[in-house]
Amino acid sequence: MPMRIPFIALLSGVLASLLFAGTAAAGATGQSGPVPSGNKALTHNPIYKTGKLDLKTCEEQRVIPDDLDSARVYLEFVLECLNDAWEPQFAKAKLPFSKPKFETTHRIGFPTGCGGFPKGAQALYCPLNNKITFLLSPGILREATELFLFQVMAHEYGHHVQELSGILPTFHRKHAKTKSVKAILPDLRKVELQAECLSGVFIGNVWHSLNRRQSDFTYVLRAAYDTASHGKASSIGYWLRRGFDQESVGACNVWTAPKSKVS
Ligand SMILES: [Zn+2]
Repeated sequence: MPMRIPFIALLSGVLASLLFAGTAAAGATGQSGPVPSGNKALTHNPIYKTGKLDLKTCEEQRVIPDDLDSARVYLEFVLECLNDAWEPQFAKAKLPFSKPKFETTHRIGFPTGCGGFPKGAQALYCPLNNKITFLLSPGILREATELFLFQVMAHEYGHHVQELSGILPTFHRKHAKTKSVKAILPDLRKVELQAECLSGVFIGNVWHSLNRRQSDFTYVLRAAYDTASHGKASSIGYWLRRGFDQESVGACNVWTAPKSKVS
């Protein structure tokens, strides 16, 4: 039995950075249309119509427990797969695409572009500089062979997808003047649950190429726990599983889902 993951908080500490992030859409290229904005960007985003990802394989690199370099290389390969998987979806949606930046750190407080790396988080996506920062602490490195590194990377990439498709910018604009954190939480949970679903879409898509046991996925599912920012464990599990099962971006429209599924 693997040890309980010390913290799979995903992006829980990022609330503050989400709140002050004003974002510029990536430069439009070629035949890309405008990035959607307003409520439609959330509920009727063109990315929802792009269906299943075309990528079917993602070869996991060998990762050695307690070895920083192998974990970093492992994550870089996962990121390559994510780029290969998502770029064609943006072409289908006629939206501009750019790759996120990526950095690892071993310390809380490390500069991310959205403030110091927050305590309690495993990784962070900063929309200001389109960068994923991943915490590789000794506790995480010990469990580096678990699927959760892969899943957390896919989740952070989900935020990048939200950013490029106008979902995160719309969320930020909507709440630019919202004063209380409590008033933002219902929409923040949707942002987080959607990223979780998008991670599931990717994992489901390449699952057969990972040569992992079903229990590896179940372990990630069960590692979820209730937080105000990410929702109930049951909601997190629901959206992760839903993306995984349907393998399709359209499965991840949290913005029109019943309240009971996004609490
Ligand atoms: Zn997140």
